[in-house]
Amino acid sequence: MIVDLHNHTPLCNHAEGEIFEYVEKAIESGTKCFGFSDHAPMDFDPKYRMSFDQMQEYEQAVLNVKEKYKDKIEILLAYEVDYLNGYMDERVLNADVDYLIGSVHFIDEWGFDNPEFIGHYEHEDIDIIWQKYFNAIEELAKSGHFDIVGHLDLIKVFKFMPKKDINLIAKNALQAIKKADMVLELNVAGYRKPVAEAYPSASLLKQAYELGIPITFSSDAHKPEQVALFNDEITKMARDAGYTECAIFRKRKREMLNF
Ligand SMILES: [Zn+2]
Ligand SMILES: [Zn+2]
Repeated sequence: MIVDLHNHTPLCNHAEGEIFEYVEKAIESGTKCFGFSDHAPMDFDPKYRMSFDQMQEYEQAVLNVKEKYKDKIEILLAYEVDYLNGYMDERVLNADVDYLIGSVHFIDEWGFDNPEFIGHYEHEDIDIIWQKYFNAIEELAKSGHFDIVGHLDLIKVFKFMPKKDINLIAKNALQAIKKADMVLELNVAGYRKPVAEAYPSASLLKQAYELGIPITFSSDAHKPEQVALFNDEITKMARDAGYTECAIFRKRKREMLNF
């Protein structure tokens, strides 16, 4: 991937490897611009993220590799932030970073992408679950806090698919993303999950292209060996949808690069 903006570090307690190993794998893969966007701290679900006390350690560790490898690759500093009402924190939203990824991992505090809580899918109509998820994405976009929307259709992770047309369910969310001038990531983590395809699907990506929403690329690596996997697949997907450019951010300012 020429650009790879969503990657984690061991500080979130569910990723492995050293920060420099992620960077070296990215250099080896020909990445020009590599972003760390570890899970931001939050007073909810604390075991899967760094604490507020660790923000400085995280930011310094990323700035250290940025300096160390500056002749070989550009490293960017970011957070992946949970869009969850009542838990978003000014210390994160105002952090001095290159960009913020906004992600929905919870519907009304249900961690729908966590296998531990998979049982809930049987207790609610699947179409309603999908609509609630995309309503949260729409609110995320309207909040104006974020530069990139993370894994747009994460709700498909376990392959519980709706009966209703997904492009229709996602329509208002995509329009809000366009209106907020946000970027959509093509995230390969879905290839590692039961759904076995990228986030978003080719069909939602096409819809985003038609609305004029820019994209970027993400490994969403939680291990160094996951960096730049499935690069060929998502590059082809992006081209097939019509895209020729992808976004990076420096200090919250967007720039487009050809891929
Ligand atoms: Zn994670
Ligand atoms: Zn995520």
